[in-house]
Amino acid sequence: MADNAVISARNVVKAFGQGAGAVRALDDVSLDIGRGEFFTLLGPSGCGKTTLLRLIAGFEMPTGGTILLDGADITTLPPNRRPVNTVFQSYALFPHLTVAQNISFGLEMLGRPAALVKARTAEMLALVKLEPMASRKTSQLSGGQQQRVALARALAPQPKVLLLDEPLSALDLKLRKEMQIELKRLQLETGITFVFVTHDQEEALTMSDRIAVMSAGRIQQIGTARDIYIHPKNRFVASFIGETNFLTGSAEAGALRLATGERIEAPGLTAGAAATISVRPEQVRLSLPSDGLKATVRALVYFGTDTHCHLHLADGTEIVARLQSPASGEAGLAVGQPVGLRFADGAVQRVED
Ligand code: ATP
Repeated sequence: MADNAVISARNVVKAFGQGAGAVRALDDVSLDIGRGEFFTLLGPSGCGKTTLLRLIAGFEMPTGGTILLDGADITTLPPNRRPVNTVFQSYALFPHLTVAQNISFGLEMLGRPAALVKARTAEMLALVKLEPMASRKTSQLSGGQQQRVALARALAPQPKVLLLDEPLSALDLKLRKEMQIELKRLQLETGITFVFVTHDQEEALTMSDRIAVMSAGRIQQIGTARDIYIHPKNRFVASFIGETNFLTGSAEAGALRLATGERIEAPGLTAGAAATISVRPEQVRLSLPSDGLKATVRALVYFGTDTHCHLHLADGTEIVARLQSPASGEAGLAVGQPVGLRFADGAVQRVED
């Protein structure tokens, strides 16, 4: 176990069904989630992120492997004996109870003394800024307010870990952005470890200390938002987090040789077989046709702050360059125009297939 890990998964496998119709929702997943971390499981629908969350909560048992909490094996411990709480996408509030009653419910179920329940409920109401609504029924609240009640209720018993399963997906875009900031604040103020599930890369990038990118039941990469964006390990991660350009060619010492014969400096590459590099659109620079890779402008799309310039290399490879729009809004380029392409220092990243 890593020294400060609160949750560890070791070689976790989860299969549903048997025989030909069996689904391997998790396929040998191992990770450590640090104490006090905002840790996000990110991946497309069906990649296994909710299944992993449910295994940590104890709602499901793994087919193989172990789950540890503070170094102790909790793999078969029932959910109510784990110091873990879950916030669901649907909030699952009690509509006939008031905001305060919803928050105190879990504490009462745990048999906490009345004075403590009262004090803790007041503290939670203040934390999520819902004091003026304490006596309202939750059916009389907006979606964002209901989400705050669900968070307060889950945080009230001071769990060691709070699990959040796409908790913002029912909110509209503006509210979702506000709640992203709010969630991060709650996590910092309480110091509780948050494990957050989402398929939304922006949500993951804005809130997380670290992100585990998942695909087809496997962890593809774990790292900070910066690590993953700047040094994506493989094609899947590079294209799932942000947008990117891929260039394929043969590897030479410190360079990639394209089919056109042109050479791109790629530090770290050693002579060998075929290789792929990734370059983010904002790292592509346009210059004169005699300078850099030969390319032709195919389309220009104005996005306000920036303009996306779609280009073709001589061998037909498509490249997108994201250029900051000048004050006039005109990028000074025309479709069909020949240009030269260069990549910013450090922008070329080798990726596995
Ligand atoms: P989403 O974002 O759509 O919720 P997810 O990444 O959370 O997706 P999971 O819900 O963990 O994915 O599902 C992973 C795989 O396991 C999917 O193929 C899913 O159909 C399958 N699966 C999940 N739960 C069950 C179940 N109870 N019975 C059978 N298959 C299941």
